[in-house]
Amino acid sequence: MVYCKFLCKSKIKDQKIKPHINHSTSNILSTPIEYLKGVGPLRGDMLRKELEIFTFGDLLDHFPHRHIDKTKVNKISSINYQTDFVQVAGVLQQFEILGAGRAKRLVAQLKDETGSLELTWFQGISWVQKNLVPGQKYLVFGRTGFFSGRPQMVHPEIEPFVAAKADGKEYLEPVYPATEKLKARGLNGRQLAKLSFQLFSQIKPTDIPENLPEHIIAQQQLINRYEAYCNIHFPVSQEAYERSLKRLKFEELFIAQVRLNLIRLERHKNSRGVVFEKVGELFNNFYNNYLPFELTGAQKRVIREIRTDTGRGHQMNRLLQGDVGSGKTIVALLSMLLAADNGYQSCLMAPTEILAQQHYNGLKALLKEMPVEIALLTGTVKGKERKRILAGLQDDTIHFVVGTHAVIEDVVQFKNLGIVIVDEQHRFGVAQRAKLWEKAAVPPHVLVMTATPIPRTLAMTAYGDLDYSVMDELPPGRQPITTVHRNESARASVMDFVKTEIQKGRQAYFIYPLIEESEKLSYEDLMQGYEQVKSFFPEPRYLISMLHGRQPAEQKETNMQRFVSGDTQIMVSTTVIEVGVNVPNATVMVIESSEKFGLSQLHQLRGRVGRGSEKSFCILLTGAKVSKEGRERINTMCATNDGFKIAEKDLELRGPGDIAGTRQSGALNFKVASIVNDKELLELAKTMAEQIVDEDPTLDMAKNLLLKNYLRSQKGKNAWSRIS
Ligand code: ADP
Ligand code: MG
Repeated sequence: MVYCKFLCKSKIKDQKIKPHINHSTSNILSTPIEYLKGVGPLRGDMLRKELEIFTFGDLLDHFPHRHIDKTKVNKISSINYQTDFVQVAGVLQQFEILGAGRAKRLVAQLKDETGSLELTWFQGISWVQKNLVPGQKYLVFGRTGFFSGRPQMVHPEIEPFVAAKADGKEYLEPVYPATEKLKARGLNGRQLAKLSFQLFSQIKPTDIPENLPEHIIAQQQLINRYEAYCNIHFPVSQEAYERSLKRLKFEELFIAQVRLNLIRLERHKNSRGVVFEKVGELFNNFYNNYLPFELTGAQKRVIREIRTDTGRGHQMNRLLQGDVGSGKTIVALLSMLLAADNGYQSCLMAPTEILAQQHYNGLKALLKEMPVEIALLTGTVKGKERKRILAGLQDDTIHFVVGTHAVIEDVVQFKNLGIVIVDEQHRFGVAQRAKLWEKAAVPPHVLVMTATPIPRTLAMTAYGDLDYSVMDELPPGRQPITTVHRNESARASVMDFVKTEIQKGRQAYFIYPLIEESEKLSYEDLMQGYEQVKSFFPEPRYLISMLHGRQPAEQKETNMQRFVSGDTQIMVSTTVIEVGVNVPNATVMVIESSEKFGLSQLHQLRGRVGRGSEKSFCILLTGAKVSKEGRERINTMCATNDGFKIAEKDLELRGPGDIAGTRQSGALNFKVASIVNDKELLELAKTMAEQIVDEDPTLDMAKNLLLKNYLRSQKGKNAWSRIS
């Protein structure tokens, strides 16, 4: 085959010398690296320590990060400011010594029929003069630069021009990632290429067997695996490299998706779940008589998904993503009613007391006429009331309980808990789930709701083994929030604007950053801010609530309540206000030092306004100095209200590593693929993986055997041990 002609040649040569290596049953890729010709114990040790290359296979998987193209011989006139490395051929002109002392250098022009290139040596001058002959033709390679407008090459690689080489080398020369230590010991990025070249001379196509089903390869027009490995290291052309990269990216994403799908399938098969078999009186009664609005299409769809999921007899483990204000609460309530119709209790967990309180008030009002008992359980509920609730949950006289995570996880016992809804948290981990499962013989269904949109590609990879729903539609009639950026120097006019809004009867938030390094600093910041706001909005004409993390829960509660009920017009707060709080009459949010906030946090905060029918505003204040990234965040916020778009941007700015703090970031450490840059390939891989796993869950069909064998061979990394 054409693609690795040079490799095949060297291999045939090698086979004669060491025929044993090509024994088909021995797996050459697991050979310890020191046995590779040119490595030995010392270098072997370094490769292990510095690059974690233990075996031939590890070296094979150590991909070059760039290539040097010596396949072409270029015309000198084609060199321009964009040229990086280049190979040219020409006749060497007379040497000249220029400068003196440290600036002393040897210079000669290289001329072809199109122009001339200046070659410069600072070191080894006498060696160069002795070995190179002016008037002869040379092949020259190196990085070009420009010196007073003319192309120049310092310390070029140079060799006599041989006619047969007129069209250059047969492959692009790989340069590998290396470490300083390796470089110091003669194993730099290009020297490593000698080792991988050696490696390819010892392996044959069957050592890198295909792992993708044939029909997928055909359909996607992918090159085969061996070919891809050859060309990722020693591509015959840039184009061959691109095709290899695409193939290996697809393979990586596809294998990951197959695994996630197998895990999900397995979980469904093995998990027992309570069955909500019917939609009953409570659900229908509420739906027909008390639902305060028509559901959005997205809400209806998600409720259907939940209904199907909970009716199947396996445990639902669903993530619901819906942008701020998309109406997740009502989805929660309808799910709870569904549970109640089937004789099960429900529990709604919120991350803060304020939110729990608010959910409780909201749900209680909605359920006023309904024959269900609902209770609020937080750290501040004490004494008799607490006892009453705990007893009520044990004897099933209380059907719904709303509370904070901590409280419900720890102490509460239920008679028959059917569903747990976790609001505003996607960090709801395995340990927390496990605690819940202890509360019932058959584990309750779990619905995790988050208003922090996760970019689709991230969700697909980090949550691919969960079931997830997306609510990508806002209730009708919402006015988009107008967001602007203002410099602190414009504070007075910002305050005037807030004043006019308050005079119209609206309310306003002032938000101060939580300074991570110091709670004390944050606190002082907030206090200063409070004084400043007060000086613009003096009592008793204006009343201000303040909220921060140091306040005891009761005080927070009171301050929040005063703002909710409209007793105070202004809320000065740190980010404790962040999640879920609903005050529809609040139409302005001023965010101080907004450059200090992350994108998703800004979006969450902004979601506190624009919740009513009035036009709302978000003003992002910054100091004069804002970093480039800070400015990009602010511009993004001013440009869009769409949480999913903002999440995409966040992913771009921060990279998956940080965002993935959310969950099993290991799943995101792709080797060649990137969830930011390879979205389409990921979508494709996902669809194909789903099709295969749906059609053949045990991967026993003949066409899937390659895949199955590969998954089996990848010990420790996959779901296979659990599956077979
Ligand atoms: P979030 O998804 O942010 O939790 P909420 O459930 O708090 O959103 O809903 C935000 C607001 O939108 C609430 O005031 C709620 O009553 C209202 N709402 C929810 N669904 C609809 C709908 N389908 N039509 C009109 N208003 C709705
Ligand atoms: Mg909410």
